[in-house]
Amino acid sequence: MKYYSTNLKAEKVDFGTALLKGLADDGGLYMPETFPVFSPDELEALKSMEYPDIAYAVLHKYLADEIPADELKRLVDDAYDFAVPLEPVTGRRFVMRLDQGPTASFKDFAARMMGRLMQYYLKQGNRRLLILTATSGDTGSAIANAFYGLDNIEVVVLFPTTEVTARQRKQMTTLGRNIRVLSLDGKFDDCQALVKLAFNDRELDYLELSSANSINIGRLLPQAVYYFHAWARLSRPGEEMVVSVPSGNFGDLMGGLIAKRMGLPVHRFVVATNENDEFPLYWENGEYHVIAPSRNCISSAMNVGHPSNVARLIAMYGGVMDEKGRILEPADLQRVRADMFAVSINDGETEGTIRSAYQEHKLILEPHGAVAWAGLSRYLAMHEADLSRLCVSIETAHPAKFPEKIRELLGFDPELPPSLQNLDDREEFVSPLQNDYPAFKTLLQGKYSK
Ligand SMILES: *Cc1c(COP(=O)(O)O)cnc(C)c1O
Repeated sequence: MKYYSTNLKAEKVDFGTALLKGLADDGGLYMPETFPVFSPDELEALKSMEYPDIAYAVLHKYLADEIPADELKRLVDDAYDFAVPLEPVTGRRFVMRLDQGPTASFKDFAARMMGRLMQYYLKQGNRRLLILTATSGDTGSAIANAFYGLDNIEVVVLFPTTEVTARQRKQMTTLGRNIRVLSLDGKFDDCQALVKLAFNDRELDYLELSSANSINIGRLLPQAVYYFHAWARLSRPGEEMVVSVPSGNFGDLMGGLIAKRMGLPVHRFVVATNENDEFPLYWENGEYHVIAPSRNCISSAMNVGHPSNVARLIAMYGGVMDEKGRILEPADLQRVRADMFAVSINDGETEGTIRSAYQEHKLILEPHGAVAWAGLSRYLAMHEADLSRLCVSIETAHPAKFPEKIRELLGFDPELPPSLQNLDDREEFVSPLQNDYPAFKTLLQGKYSK
């Protein structure tokens, strides 16, 4: 199976190449040329499988000719050794908690699998890599934890100093060893811009830079898996589901869209953003206008002005979007609207939802999951025929990652999952960085000279 670039100007490559490169040479994002489809029997068989086996079933469809079956089985077993709870809320409505991994964020699902896949290919080729990643909080810690201690890989994480919580920061900075963390005097978009400049700087080619952001195809495919898991656990015969996805850079949503293309019975995706409403506006009126700079909301990991993965979404629906967010070929908006319902939720609604979810259902949500739950409520209010349908709202972080917010709104401290305990006592390794490309480049060249 081959992977093409959304800019359509780069060579098609196999999965291993796309994984280690991250971004295609023409600046586009890799996408699989075709989507392998599950037969009804294969879908049915998922219902008796544990999470790692579902992950194997999904990923094997893409990797059968690149990674031996027993090797892939080992990788998924190693990556997915934690629970993926589906919490019943009311009627046929559930919250899927993707917060039981080592950093209590859904990004663990992608990062842990990607790390193991990269390690596999690097060992095969006797190579090393320098992973450069920009984070608005959760990606960085998931990547840092997923790659911590690996031999062939070093990691540099950039985060916006004022946009991540103390706990998010400590999950990255207390590791050390092959994990280097830079605290940037700027916004998430600035971090992303510096990383992009480094990737496009041919003088840094010798560093073997690679990206681990949600732009990497190696993160996208594992994010299709939990949609299959939710359906396999919850669906009754013939039942299609509605899934609400709290969306920032749209990697999570892309996983869902890929799952649907692979035959998963999804009736509709609710695409719930915070006040960064670039996509909901496009969905509504068909015109695409990039938001810059991004807007600061309490669901901080979703403060993305222009989501890079929208280029992939547009490609999936027959259009072309360049890396600046310009639509060069229009997508089939009718199909976009048939598959998705896009909605923007402001901070006031997010906070109100955290309160009401707890009051009405004893459901504890943090700001990201609350955006999804509020989006689902909005959808159901407008689609009464779907009120009895199976609905799954995705919770992407553990409430204990946002203790101040939860205390303010609900009046108690959420219990810490084991992965977040004892962070406060550990030493931090972090360096400050000005929002200045030459300084960043010098730092990369100095630390990682030939
Ligand atoms: C990254 C993140 C999101 C957004 O996911 P995307 O794939 O970027 O859309 C939502 N919630 C949390 C907690 C996150 O860390």
